[in-house]
Amino acid sequence: MRTEIIAVGTELLLGQIANTNAQWISQRMAELGLPVYSHAVVGDNLDRVAGSFREAARRSDIVIVTGGLGPTEDDLTRDAGSMILGKTVHEHAPSMERIEAYYKRNNKKMSLNNRKQSHVFEGAHVLDNMEGMAPGQIIQQGEVTWVFLPGVPREMKALMESGVIPYLQQSFSIQSEIVSEMLHFIGIGESDLETELQTLISGQTNPTLAPLASEGEVGLRLTATGETTEEAKAKIAEMKTTVLGKVGDFYYGSDDQTIEGTVQQLLSRHGYRLGAAESFTGGKFMERIISLPGASAVCQGGLTTYTAEMKEQVLDIPKYLIREYGTISHECAEMMALNTQSLLDVDVAVSFTGVAGPDSSEGKEPGTVFIGLQIKDKSPEVHRFQFPGGRDQVRERAVKKGFELLFH
Ligand code: ATP
Ligand code: MG
Repeated sequence: MRTEIIAVGTELLLGQIANTNAQWISQRMAELGLPVYSHAVVGDNLDRVAGSFREAARRSDIVIVTGGLGPTEDDLTRDAGSMILGKTVHEHAPSMERIEAYYKRNNKKMSLNNRKQSHVFEGAHVLDNMEGMAPGQIIQQGEVTWVFLPGVPREMKALMESGVIPYLQQSFSIQSEIVSEMLHFIGIGESDLETELQTLISGQTNPTLAPLASEGEVGLRLTATGETTEEAKAKIAEMKTTVLGKVGDFYYGSDDQTIEGTVQQLLSRHGYRLGAAESFTGGKFMERIISLPGASAVCQGGLTTYTAEMKEQVLDIPKYLIREYGTISHECAEMMALNTQSLLDVDVAVSFTGVAGPDSSEGKEPGTVFIGLQIKDKSPEVHRFQFPGGRDQVRERAVKKGFELLFH
């Protein structure tokens, strides 16, 4: 069964937006057991859109088209579809009513073009678009199943979930239920994780294991199918136990769980209160954990001390220390954490000092970062890092690393 995705839109070719629709649909189709064979992107040009449809009809069993169903002149998916499928279009009354109701409700004048959005191919199975204007459509033409969806990701996803996937499951008699869980790891790189799990990743088909690197951490998506949801869930649970047997030290949570959420729970479990002194991270660390509900139970506060003077005046970092070692130093990070603990009266104090870039500072390269930790009456810890990337990336990585250090 060959599935192909065609994304229509010149803005995709110009690189103004990324083809996230194809990525998302591919993932869902793979989970369904109908893997996608190719992606195509085509600009808003009638001949070229029609050409891509013609090719797709030759080589694919399922063709999923997104975009170009809007009201404007450059929305050509309908016209190209008519040409290639040899089908006329007509107004779909329920969609037309919804579009009219929308304009009425918003006191806007409807143009003739807007009617176009309710046009569907003759014989199409129409999927009501509850999130927008143009409905989705499924057309069975010879051996090929055509799916037409609006380009707006929110509308596309809603129509896939509510209409397209159930349709495909039925027409290709896919009875399986799909369950997936995203495991989050921190403190291990993607390649090390893959090495540890190599045999599982390459040898497993149910569940499948898909590693996914993101900023400062790694995810592993487990996806299983079964005749029932329970059966699929049991397969996930079993695989999760195996995976955690190998790399469990780095696992901090699943699905929507974040590292800051995990740290918040850890602090709360110990009854610890948290404070921070932040230089180049500008309060990002505290912001991250305070933005979560439940912060008041564990967060005391943070001090953003960007300049050397602020570090002296607010954090009582001695002048001689700054003169001797500079603010971007092991010594300064350590003293920042130590003084924050007493100034804010907290159990756990974290400090951040470093060079976010793009320029060097105090003779230190951009990306040089010191993170200090003072936990209860333990001896202070300072960790030095050299992060790659630009200013934003360095600041982001440092904040992530701060949570990682508290987690471990
Ligand atoms: P509309 O009725 O809004 O015009 P449409 O079906 O004509 O919808 P497009 O005009 O192609 O769709 O795209 C609408 C918006 O959806 C785009 O501006 C873009 O932000 C987003 N979009 C379109 N195609 C994709 C895609 N392949 N991946 C991610 N986003 C997309
Ligand atoms: Mg459009």
